[in-house]
Amino acid sequence: MPGCPECGAPSDRCERFFHELIILDYSGRSPWAPLHAVSVSCYFFQHPSLVAGQEFYWALLHLYLRDGQDALIAHTVRARRRNSHRYGGRAPTVEDFPGAPPYPGPAVAPTTFATTIEDVAADGTFPAGGFADRARAWAEATVAAWGF
Ligand SMILES: [Zn+2]
Repeated sequence: MPGCPECGAPSDRCERFFHELIILDYSGRSPWAPLHAVSVSCYFFQHPSLVAGQEFYWALLHLYLRDGQDALIAHTVRARRRNSHRYGGRAPTVEDFPGAPPYPGPAVAPTTFATTIEDVAADGTFPAGGFADRARAWAEATVAAWGF
């Protein structure tokens, strides 16, 4: 079976895993839903051909790794509230997640990560037990491979 050319996972099932994870996220249940933004950021950073606006996800991941899940959710809620007052509901931007090191830029996209979505999926179903730890390892591996 050919591996994933973008993240280096041993199989080529990343997109299928991602769709399953998004369904779990939108179930509204823990441990998946509170980490939705982290999962999306990790997936896009490990598959950078898919996304524009990577600087936003970069800032978000750094805030999560530095300050944790509760801080990330608090920032997201604050950003939504502030932006809905000021800009008629625009989406949060990189300014809403301050403190990240400079974004390294798209030219250096790595293709090997210590943790990929396949690891987070575990048996393929993203089991709740240990999910938060696997998601954190995913975020750490993503940021580490990009050089910070
Ligand atoms: Zn992949």
